[in-house]
Amino acid sequence: MSSTFPTIGILGGGQLGKMMAAEAVRMSVDARLLSPKEAGPMQPYTGARVGDWTDPDVLRPFTADCDVVTVESEWAPADAAAEVLPDGAALWPSTQTLSLIKDKGVQKQHLADAGCPVPAFACCETLDEALDAAEEFGYPVVLKQYRGAYDGYGNATAAAEDELREAWPDLATEDGAMVETFADFARELAVQVARRPGGNQVVYPVAYTEQRDHRCHAVEVPADIDDAIADKARHIAQKSVDAVEGVGLIAVELFEMPDGRVLVNELAPRPHNTGHYSIEGAATSQFENHVRAVLDWPLGDPSLRTPVAVMVNVLGRREGTPPQTTGLPRALDTEGVTPHIYGKPDVRPGRKMGHVTALGADRADTRKRAEMAASAIEL
Ligand code: ATP
Ligand code: MG
Ligand code: MG
Repeated sequence: MSSTFPTIGILGGGQLGKMMAAEAVRMSVDARLLSPKEAGPMQPYTGARVGDWTDPDVLRPFTADCDVVTVESEWAPADAAAEVLPDGAALWPSTQTLSLIKDKGVQKQHLADAGCPVPAFACCETLDEALDAAEEFGYPVVLKQYRGAYDGYGNATAAAEDELREAWPDLATEDGAMVETFADFARELAVQVARRPGGNQVVYPVAYTEQRDHRCHAVEVPADIDDAIADKARHIAQKSVDAVEGVGLIAVELFEMPDGRVLVNELAPRPHNTGHYSIEGAATSQFENHVRAVLDWPLGDPSLRTPVAVMVNVLGRREGTPPQTTGLPRALDTEGVTPHIYGKPDVRPGRKMGHVTALGADRADTRKRAEMAASAIEL
């Protein structure tokens, strides 16, 4: 309310916050970011702050000038921010939506109750309950930690009883853990949905997503799938986002099963790695539509502006500070490729340090250029 253009407060200062802020700034929306850790990706923004983001005395001045507050992660302290929001300001996605998503057991149960197809699962309080559930579903099963997991760090696939027994102590918390049947999928897909507070929404094309070591490696859009599967995936994604009354950009991770079923793996209540291609590849990026949705502004066209877009993640290769960007010129020199470097202060093997997006007419050629550019950037 400090200027004629609105102010958006982003809880989080990683790459998602950075890319949200970039779109906000482009529209002259004033972006403020609050991170609990040292300034990394958010550093270029004058509105960036580092502080204890659970502390009301930090959150109150941070939100004081905001028209809307949003999150870059489902674990950001949205409840604490809601307590100190100034009159007339909004927080999206709502704390209710976040509470339905941030615990995998609550999320799966809510989606199942709403009629969204999910793999068979059981929320288990004890190891004995988990063993019974696995017996019922048949091995292999996936044991999932309820909260705080990403990049597969909170998952363990158990092929037999002894492996489930071994994984349980690492992943179970005081309320247990979730056992899920192993989905022997044909492909993993993702659909981004941008939804305004009144429910008005746009749906992005279906993305094919390839995981390596439970971590996103590459995304190709559109997915090379039958129209009927694509329609089903988009319908299920919308139904899932409606079920949690998501506002902002919500990503829906899906499994395409060999028999044509499409199952929901999980939702992310924020822009998502599988939607990064949209910065160059779509008429309106997922980050811009997130900003528009939380401001309750008209949403932009999510359609592709290229026959094929391919995104490949740039992962850290070696331990060390600071990152070396010696390979960047080579990546910049690859035709039709846009590299993004997040600006994380230190490198760890496997850490997401950036990504590249290639646009093109031919899937195989576009994929090749994206892979070449990503591997040229040695961080
Ligand atoms: P992120 O939030 O980074 O996407 P996460 O830690 O929340 O990851 P999940 O999305 O649950 O983890 O799982 C990571 C990957 O593990 C999935 O993308 C998929 O490749 C695999 N996976 C998860 N659940 C199952 C399942 N039930 N059957 C088969 N594979 C699975
Ligand atoms: Mg997840
Ligand atoms: Mg996931």
